[in-house]
Amino acid sequence: MNMTFAEKILARYGGEKHVQPGQIVTVQPDHLLMHDNAAPIISKIQPELKQYGIFSKKLPVIVLDHVIPAAAEKNAAQHKQIREFVKTYNMPYFFDVGYGVCHQIIIEKGFALPGMLLLGSDSHTCSYGAVGAFSSGIDRTEAAALLLTGETWLKVPQSIKITLQKKLPRFVTAKDVILTIIGDVSASGADYCSVEFHGAIAQFSVDERFTMANMGVEMGAKNAMFPVDEVTQQYLRSIGVAKTKFKPVHPDPDATYHKEVTYDLSQLEPVVAVPHSVDNVKPVSEVEGIEIQQCLLGTCTNGRVSDFQVAAKILKGKKIHPNVRFLLLPASRAVYLEAEQKGYLKALVEAGGTMLPPGCGPCLGAHQGALAPGERCLSTSNRNFKGRMGCKDAEIYLASPVTVAVSALHGRITDPRRGMN
Ligand code: SF4
Repeated sequence: MNMTFAEKILARYGGEKHVQPGQIVTVQPDHLLMHDNAAPIISKIQPELKQYGIFSKKLPVIVLDHVIPAAAEKNAAQHKQIREFVKTYNMPYFFDVGYGVCHQIIIEKGFALPGMLLLGSDSHTCSYGAVGAFSSGIDRTEAAALLLTGETWLKVPQSIKITLQKKLPRFVTAKDVILTIIGDVSASGADYCSVEFHGAIAQFSVDERFTMANMGVEMGAKNAMFPVDEVTQQYLRSIGVAKTKFKPVHPDPDATYHKEVTYDLSQLEPVVAVPHSVDNVKPVSEVEGIEIQQCLLGTCTNGRVSDFQVAAKILKGKKIHPNVRFLLLPASRAVYLEAEQKGYLKALVEAGGTMLPPGCGPCLGAHQGALAPGERCLSTSNRNFKGRMGCKDAEIYLASPVTVAVSALHGRITDPRRGMN
Protein backbone atom coordinates (compact mmCIF):
# COMPACT_ATOMS: atom_id res chain seq x y z
CA MET A 1 0.00 0.00 0.00
CA ASN A 2 2.84 2.40 1.03
CA MET A 3 0.68 5.46 1.65
CA THR A 4 1.08 8.25 4.21
CA PHE A 5 -1.75 9.29 6.53
CA ALA A 6 -2.95 12.05 4.18
CA GLU A 7 -2.79 9.78 1.15
CA LYS A 8 -4.73 7.02 2.91
CA ILE A 9 -7.45 9.26 4.26
CA LEU A 10 -7.90 11.16 1.00
CA ALA A 11 -8.02 7.85 -0.89
CA ARG A 12 -10.76 6.74 1.50
CA TYR A 13 -12.81 9.91 1.09
CA GLY A 14 -12.06 10.22 -2.62
CA GLY A 15 -13.26 6.68 -3.32
CA GLU A 16 -9.84 5.64 -4.67
CA LYS A 17 -7.71 2.60 -3.85
CA HIS A 18 -4.49 4.55 -4.09
CA VAL A 19 -3.64 8.24 -4.47
CA GLN A 20 -0.39 10.13 -4.86
CA PRO A 21 0.78 13.69 -4.06
CA GLY A 22 -0.56 16.22 -6.51
CA GLN A 23 -3.64 14.16 -7.39
CA ILE A 24 -6.99 15.95 -7.11
CA VAL A 25 -9.74 14.16 -5.21
CA THR A 26 -13.37 15.15 -4.72
CA VAL A 27 -14.40 14.64 -1.10
CA GLN A 28 -17.42 14.98 1.14
CA PRO A 29 -16.10 16.06 4.55
CA ASP A 30 -17.79 14.93 7.76
CA HIS A 31 -18.13 18.50 9.01
CA LEU A 32 -17.64 22.09 7.97
CA LEU A 33 -16.58 24.43 10.77
CA MET A 34 -17.61 28.07 10.74
CA HIS A 35 -17.46 30.74 13.45
CA ASP A 36 -18.49 34.40 13.47
CA ASN A 37 -17.47 34.40 9.81
CA ALA A 38 -20.56 32.30 9.01
CA ALA A 39 -22.27 35.70 8.55
CA PRO A 40 -20.18 36.84 5.56
CA ILE A 41 -20.19 33.27 4.23
CA ILE A 42 -23.97 32.97 4.10
CA SER A 43 -24.28 36.53 2.80
CA LYS A 44 -22.32 35.44 -0.30
CA ILE A 45 -24.91 32.82 -1.26
CA GLN A 46 -28.28 34.30 -0.37
CA PRO A 47 -29.94 33.61 -3.78
CA GLU A 48 -28.59 30.02 -3.91
CA LEU A 49 -29.66 29.36 -0.33
CA LYS A 50 -33.17 30.52 -1.16
CA GLN A 51 -33.28 28.29 -4.23
CA TYR A 52 -31.52 25.13 -3.02
CA GLY A 53 -31.11 25.34 0.75
CA ILE A 54 -28.10 23.76 2.46
CA PHE A 55 -26.66 20.33 1.63
CA SER A 56 -27.20 18.88 5.10
CA LYS A 57 -28.10 20.44 8.43
CA LYS A 58 -25.58 18.09 10.09
CA LEU A 59 -22.62 19.24 7.98
CA PRO A 60 -21.97 22.66 9.60
CA VAL A 61 -20.70 23.14 13.12
CA ILE A 62 -21.03 26.82 13.97
CA VAL A 63 -19.43 28.35 17.06
CA LEU A 64 -19.65 32.03 17.98
CA ASP A 65 -16.25 32.72 19.50
CA HIS A 66 -14.26 35.45 17.77
CA VAL A 67 -15.82 38.65 19.10
CA ILE A 68 -17.88 37.58 22.07
CA PRO A 69 -19.84 39.01 23.77
CA ALA A 70 -20.41 41.29 20.78
CA ALA A 71 -18.09 44.29 21.05
CA ALA A 72 -20.08 46.53 18.69
CA GLU A 73 -23.37 46.72 16.83
CA LYS A 74 -21.74 45.20 13.73
CA ASN A 75 -20.77 42.03 15.65
CA ALA A 76 -24.16 41.81 17.33
CA ALA A 77 -25.89 42.05 13.94
CA GLN A 78 -23.67 39.28 12.52
CA HIS A 79 -24.38 37.03 15.50
CA LYS A 80 -28.11 37.69 15.04
CA GLN A 81 -27.89 36.84 11.33
CA ILE A 82 -26.16 33.54 12.18
CA ARG A 83 -28.74 32.63 14.84
CA GLU A 84 -31.54 33.23 12.33
CA PHE A 85 -29.74 31.11 9.70
CA VAL A 86 -29.33 28.27 12.22
CA LYS A 87 -33.00 28.50 13.12
CA THR A 88 -34.17 28.57 9.50
CA TYR A 89 -32.38 25.31 8.69
CA ASN A 90 -32.89 23.73 12.10
CA MET A 91 -29.18 23.06 12.50
CA PRO A 92 -28.32 20.92 15.50
CA TYR A 93 -24.64 21.86 15.86
CA PHE A 94 -24.71 25.49 16.91
CA PHE A 95 -22.77 26.84 19.88
CA ASP A 96 -23.68 30.36 20.90
CA VAL A 97 -21.60 32.94 22.77
CA GLY A 98 -19.90 31.44 25.83
CA TYR A 99 -19.31 27.84 24.74
CA GLY A 100 -15.71 28.57 23.82
CA VAL A 101 -13.27 28.61 20.91
CA CYS A 102 -14.46 26.70 17.84
CA HIS A 103 -11.50 24.29 17.66
CA GLN A 104 -11.79 23.35 21.32
CA ILE A 105 -15.52 22.72 20.89
CA ILE A 106 -14.94 20.51 17.84
CA ILE A 107 -12.58 18.25 19.78
CA GLU A 108 -14.20 18.34 23.21
CA LYS A 109 -17.71 17.61 21.83
CA GLY A 110 -16.38 14.72 19.73
CA PHE A 111 -17.04 16.19 16.26
CA ALA A 112 -13.49 15.28 15.23
CA LEU A 113 -12.68 11.59 15.53
CA PRO A 114 -9.83 9.42 14.25
CA GLY A 115 -10.01 8.81 10.52
CA MET A 116 -12.49 11.63 9.85
CA LEU A 117 -12.14 14.48 7.36
CA LEU A 118 -13.11 17.97 8.51
CA LEU A 119 -12.73 21.32 6.80
CA GLY A 120 -13.24 24.73 8.33
CA SER A 121 -13.23 28.38 7.43
CA ASP A 122 -10.44 29.05 9.91
CA SER A 123 -6.74 28.43 9.45
CA HIS A 124 -6.30 26.56 12.75
CA THR A 125 -8.76 23.86 11.69
CA CYS A 126 -5.60 21.75 11.40
CA SER A 127 -5.87 21.25 15.20
CA TYR A 128 -7.97 18.08 14.91
CA GLY A 129 -4.94 16.07 13.85
CA ALA A 130 -4.48 15.87 17.64
CA VAL A 131 -7.00 13.01 17.58
CA GLY A 132 -5.99 11.50 14.26
CA ALA A 133 -8.42 13.34 11.99
CA PHE A 134 -7.47 14.98 8.69
CA SER A 135 -8.51 18.60 9.04
CA SER A 136 -7.66 21.74 7.17
CA GLY A 137 -8.63 25.36 6.78
CA ILE A 138 -10.39 26.54 3.64
CA ASP A 139 -11.42 30.00 2.54
CA ARG A 140 -14.87 31.55 2.89
CA THR A 141 -15.89 31.17 -0.75
CA GLU A 142 -15.01 27.48 -0.65
CA ALA A 143 -16.92 27.13 2.63
CA ALA A 144 -19.95 28.78 1.02
CA ALA A 145 -19.88 26.31 -1.90
CA LEU A 146 -19.39 23.38 0.48
CA LEU A 147 -22.37 24.47 2.52
CA LEU A 148 -24.52 24.26 -0.61
CA THR A 149 -23.09 21.14 -2.27
CA GLY A 150 -21.53 19.09 0.54
CA GLU A 151 -18.42 18.44 -1.51
CA THR A 152 -15.18 20.04 -2.56
CA TRP A 153 -11.83 19.06 -4.04
CA LEU A 154 -8.48 18.68 -2.37
CA LYS A 155 -5.03 18.20 -3.82
CA VAL A 156 -3.26 15.28 -2.14
CA PRO A 157 -0.39 16.89 -0.21
CA GLN A 158 3.18 15.70 0.08
CA SER A 159 3.95 14.46 3.58
CA ILE A 160 6.63 15.35 6.11
CA LYS A 161 7.49 12.89 8.88
CA ILE A 162 8.74 14.40 12.14
CA THR A 163 10.09 11.78 14.54
CA LEU A 164 10.38 12.83 18.17
CA GLN A 165 12.88 10.89 20.27
CA LYS A 166 13.59 10.69 24.02
CA LYS A 167 11.91 12.76 26.74
CA LEU A 168 11.53 16.48 27.26
CA PRO A 169 13.54 18.05 30.10
CA ARG A 170 11.75 19.79 32.98
CA PHE A 171 10.18 23.17 32.11
CA VAL A 172 10.30 22.35 28.38
CA THR A 173 6.84 21.72 26.93
CA ALA A 174 4.95 20.74 23.79
CA LYS A 175 4.72 24.45 22.93
CA ASP A 176 8.52 24.68 22.99
CA VAL A 177 8.70 21.63 20.72
CA ILE A 178 6.39 23.07 18.08
CA LEU A 179 7.96 26.55 18.24
CA THR A 180 11.41 24.97 17.83
CA ILE A 181 10.21 22.97 14.82
CA ILE A 182 8.60 26.05 13.22
CA GLY A 183 11.81 28.03 13.83
CA ASP A 184 13.80 25.32 12.00
CA VAL A 185 11.34 24.58 9.20
CA SER A 186 10.33 28.25 8.68
CA ALA A 187 6.86 29.75 8.27
CA SER A 188 6.60 28.39 4.72
CA GLY A 189 8.77 25.30 5.01
CA ALA A 190 5.82 22.89 5.12
CA ASP A 191 3.64 24.75 2.58
CA TYR A 192 0.75 22.52 1.45
CA CYS A 193 2.32 19.51 3.18
CA SER A 194 0.79 17.02 5.57
CA VAL A 195 2.86 16.90 8.76
CA GLU A 196 2.94 13.63 10.72
CA PHE A 197 4.38 13.37 14.22
CA HIS A 198 5.92 10.00 15.10
CA GLY A 199 8.24 8.45 17.67
CA ALA A 200 8.02 9.10 21.40
CA ILE A 201 4.57 10.66 21.18
CA ALA A 202 3.11 8.69 24.11
CA GLN A 203 4.54 11.34 26.45
CA PHE A 204 2.20 13.95 24.94
CA SER A 205 -1.39 14.21 26.16
CA VAL A 206 -4.17 15.09 23.72
CA ASP A 207 -4.02 18.65 25.11
CA GLU A 208 -0.35 18.84 24.15
CA ARG A 209 -0.96 17.23 20.75
CA PHE A 210 -3.67 19.84 20.22
CA THR A 211 -1.12 22.62 20.84
CA MET A 212 1.28 21.10 18.31
CA ALA A 213 -1.27 20.25 15.60
CA ASN A 214 -2.85 23.70 16.06
CA MET A 215 0.41 25.38 15.08
CA GLY A 216 1.02 23.17 12.02
CA VAL A 217 -0.38 25.94 9.83
CA GLU A 218 2.28 28.31 11.19
CA MET A 219 4.82 26.38 9.07
CA GLY A 220 2.38 26.35 6.16
CA ALA A 221 1.09 22.79 6.64
CA LYS A 222 -2.19 21.68 5.08
CA ASN A 223 -2.78 19.49 8.12
CA ALA A 224 -0.80 18.11 11.05
CA MET A 225 -1.52 14.84 12.82
CA PHE A 226 -0.64 12.37 15.53
CA PRO A 227 -1.22 8.64 14.96
CA VAL A 228 -3.99 7.23 17.12
CA ASP A 229 -2.64 5.39 20.17
CA GLU A 230 -3.71 4.52 23.71
CA VAL A 231 -3.47 8.20 24.73
CA THR A 232 -6.00 9.11 22.02
CA GLN A 233 -8.26 6.19 22.91
CA GLN A 234 -8.23 7.12 26.58
CA TYR A 235 -9.08 10.74 25.78
CA LEU A 236 -11.97 9.69 23.57
CA ARG A 237 -13.29 7.41 26.32
CA SER A 238 -13.10 10.36 28.73
CA ILE A 239 -15.43 12.39 26.50
CA GLY A 240 -17.81 9.48 26.05
CA VAL A 241 -16.86 8.34 22.54
CA ALA A 242 -17.10 4.56 22.07
CA LYS A 243 -14.41 2.75 20.07
CA THR A 244 -17.03 1.62 17.58
CA LYS A 245 -17.68 5.24 16.55
CA PHE A 246 -14.43 5.72 14.63
CA LYS A 247 -12.05 4.00 12.26
CA PRO A 248 -8.48 5.28 12.65
CA VAL A 249 -6.21 5.65 9.65
CA HIS A 250 -2.58 4.68 10.19
CA PRO A 251 0.20 5.59 7.76
CA ASP A 252 1.88 2.56 6.19
CA PRO A 253 5.32 1.74 7.60
CA ASP A 254 6.79 1.85 4.07
CA ALA A 255 5.09 5.14 3.09
CA THR A 256 7.18 7.60 1.08
CA TYR A 257 7.78 11.01 2.62
CA HIS A 258 8.81 14.23 0.93
CA LYS A 259 11.00 14.95 3.94
CA GLU A 260 11.89 13.25 7.24
CA VAL A 261 13.34 14.98 10.28
CA THR A 262 14.18 13.77 13.77
CA TYR A 263 14.31 15.68 17.04
CA ASP A 264 16.07 14.61 20.23
CA LEU A 265 13.63 16.13 22.73
CA SER A 266 16.08 15.82 25.61
CA GLN A 267 18.20 18.52 23.92
CA LEU A 268 15.42 21.11 23.64
CA GLU A 269 15.09 24.20 25.81
CA PRO A 270 12.35 26.76 26.50
CA VAL A 271 11.96 29.07 23.50
CA VAL A 272 10.10 32.23 22.50
CA ALA A 273 8.88 33.38 19.08
CA VAL A 274 9.89 37.02 18.95
CA PRO A 275 8.21 39.78 16.90
CA HIS A 276 6.90 39.74 14.27
CA SER A 277 6.83 36.21 12.87
CA VAL A 278 6.17 32.81 14.41
CA ASP A 279 9.36 31.32 12.93
CA ASN A 280 11.54 33.96 14.56
CA VAL A 281 12.32 31.61 17.43
CA LYS A 282 15.00 32.13 20.05
CA PRO A 283 15.95 30.35 23.30
CA VAL A 284 14.27 32.15 26.21
CA SER A 285 17.74 32.57 27.70
CA GLU A 286 18.66 34.86 24.76
CA VAL A 287 15.77 37.27 25.30
CA GLU A 288 15.58 37.17 29.09
CA GLY A 289 14.99 40.47 30.81
CA ILE A 290 12.77 42.10 28.17
CA GLU A 291 10.02 43.96 30.04
CA ILE A 292 6.40 42.95 29.40
CA GLN A 293 3.19 44.79 30.17
CA GLN A 294 0.70 42.02 29.40
CA CYS A 295 0.58 38.23 29.58
CA LEU A 296 -2.08 36.10 27.93
CA LEU A 297 -2.73 32.55 29.09
CA GLY A 298 -5.27 30.77 26.93
CA THR A 299 -6.62 30.59 23.33
CA CYS A 300 -7.11 27.49 21.20
CA THR A 301 -3.37 26.86 21.44
CA ASN A 302 -2.93 26.74 25.22
CA GLY A 303 -6.25 27.39 26.96
CA ARG A 304 -6.97 23.95 28.39
CA VAL A 305 -7.23 22.70 31.97
CA SER A 306 -3.67 21.35 31.92
CA ASP A 307 -2.40 24.81 30.90
CA PHE A 308 -4.20 26.50 33.79
CA GLN A 309 -3.00 23.74 36.10
CA VAL A 310 0.66 24.33 35.30
CA ALA A 311 0.30 28.11 35.64
CA ALA A 312 -1.61 27.78 38.93
CA LYS A 313 1.12 25.53 40.31
CA ILE A 314 3.68 28.23 39.57
CA LEU A 315 1.62 31.20 40.80
CA LYS A 316 -0.35 29.82 43.73
CA GLY A 317 0.23 31.96 46.83
CA LYS A 318 2.30 34.51 44.85
CA LYS A 319 1.55 37.86 43.20
CA ILE A 320 2.31 38.70 39.61
CA HIS A 321 4.48 41.74 38.90
CA PRO A 322 2.56 45.03 39.42
CA ASN A 323 3.39 46.25 35.90
CA VAL A 324 1.78 43.21 34.25
CA ARG A 325 -1.84 42.63 33.20
CA PHE A 326 -2.34 38.87 33.29
CA LEU A 327 -5.28 37.78 31.12
CA LEU A 328 -6.83 34.35 31.61
CA LEU A 329 -8.74 33.01 28.62
CA PRO A 330 -10.14 29.47 28.90
CA ALA A 331 -10.65 27.70 25.58
CA SER A 332 -14.17 26.63 26.54
CA ARG A 333 -16.85 26.78 29.18
CA ALA A 334 -16.06 23.18 30.12
CA VAL A 335 -12.41 24.13 30.63
CA TYR A 336 -13.48 27.17 32.68
CA LEU A 337 -15.69 25.08 34.95
CA GLU A 338 -13.17 22.30 35.48
CA ALA A 339 -10.29 24.71 36.11
CA GLU A 340 -12.51 26.61 38.52
CA GLN A 341 -13.63 23.46 40.33
CA LYS A 342 -10.01 22.31 40.69
CA GLY A 343 -9.01 25.66 42.21
CA TYR A 344 -6.66 26.71 39.38
CA LEU A 345 -8.61 29.83 38.46
CA LYS A 346 -8.87 30.94 42.09
CA ALA A 347 -5.10 30.64 42.46
CA LEU A 348 -4.51 32.60 39.26
CA VAL A 349 -7.04 35.34 40.03
CA GLU A 350 -5.66 35.69 43.57
CA ALA A 351 -2.20 36.05 42.01
CA GLY A 352 -3.55 39.04 40.04
CA GLY A 353 -5.06 37.45 36.92
CA THR A 354 -8.13 38.80 35.09
CA MET A 355 -10.73 36.31 33.82
CA LEU A 356 -12.08 36.69 30.29
CA PRO A 357 -15.03 34.77 28.87
CA PRO A 358 -14.21 31.54 26.98
CA GLY A 359 -13.51 32.56 23.39
CA CYS A 360 -10.85 34.12 21.20
CA GLY A 361 -10.57 37.32 23.24
CA PRO A 362 -7.34 39.28 22.70
CA CYS A 363 -5.84 36.64 20.38
CA LEU A 364 -7.03 38.38 17.20
CA GLY A 365 -7.00 41.98 18.37
CA ALA A 366 -10.67 42.67 17.66
CA HIS A 367 -11.52 43.60 21.25
CA GLN A 368 -10.45 42.80 24.84
CA GLY A 369 -6.84 43.18 25.89
CA ALA A 370 -5.70 45.32 22.97
CA LEU A 371 -2.15 46.59 23.33
CA ALA A 372 -1.00 50.23 23.31
CA PRO A 373 1.88 51.49 21.15
CA GLY A 374 5.22 50.43 22.60
CA GLU A 375 3.74 47.70 24.79
CA ARG A 376 4.77 44.06 24.79
CA CYS A 377 2.68 40.98 25.43
CA LEU A 378 3.98 37.50 26.21
CA SER A 379 1.30 35.13 25.03
CA THR A 380 0.51 31.42 24.78
CA SER A 381 -1.36 32.04 21.52
CA ASN A 382 -0.16 31.04 18.06
CA ARG A 383 0.48 34.26 16.14
CA ASN A 384 2.68 37.30 16.78
CA PHE A 385 2.16 39.19 13.53
CA LYS A 386 2.37 42.99 13.61
CA GLY A 387 -0.98 44.33 14.77
CA ARG A 388 -2.36 40.92 15.73
CA MET A 389 -3.39 42.23 19.15
CA GLY A 390 -4.86 45.43 17.83
CA CYS A 391 -1.81 47.70 17.65
CA LYS A 392 0.84 47.65 14.94
CA ASP A 393 3.31 49.44 17.19
CA ALA A 394 3.13 46.80 19.92
CA GLU A 395 5.11 43.56 20.16
CA ILE A 396 3.91 40.01 20.77
CA TYR A 397 6.14 37.21 22.01
CA LEU A 398 4.89 33.61 21.97
CA ALA A 399 5.83 31.05 24.61
CA SER A 400 4.60 28.15 26.69
CA PRO A 401 2.23 28.52 29.66
CA VAL A 402 5.20 27.74 31.95
CA THR A 403 7.32 30.56 30.53
CA VAL A 404 4.35 32.94 30.52
CA ALA A 405 3.44 32.22 34.16
CA VAL A 406 7.02 32.58 35.41
CA SER A 407 7.52 35.77 33.37
CA ALA A 408 4.27 37.26 34.75
CA LEU A 409 5.82 36.98 38.21
CA HIS A 410 8.95 38.83 37.22
CA GLY A 411 7.47 41.42 34.84
CA ARG A 412 10.05 40.43 32.20
CA ILE A 413 10.67 37.50 29.95
CA THR A 414 12.18 34.89 32.23
CA ASP A 415 13.70 31.48 31.63
CA PRO A 416 11.55 29.17 33.76
CA ARG A 417 14.57 27.02 34.58
CA ARG A 418 16.05 29.99 36.46
CA GLY A 419 12.88 31.87 37.36
CA MET A 420 11.59 28.97 39.44
CA ASN A 421 14.74 28.61 41.54
FE1 SF4 B 1 -8.05 31.94 15.93
FE2 SF4 B 1 -7.03 32.85 18.23
FE3 SF4 B 1 -9.58 32.14 18.08
FE4 SF4 B 1 -7.67 30.30 17.99
S1 SF4 B 1 -8.16 31.63 19.74
S2 SF4 B 1 -9.50 30.39 16.68
S3 SF4 B 1 -6.07 31.39 16.83
S4 SF4 B 1 -8.60 33.84 16.99
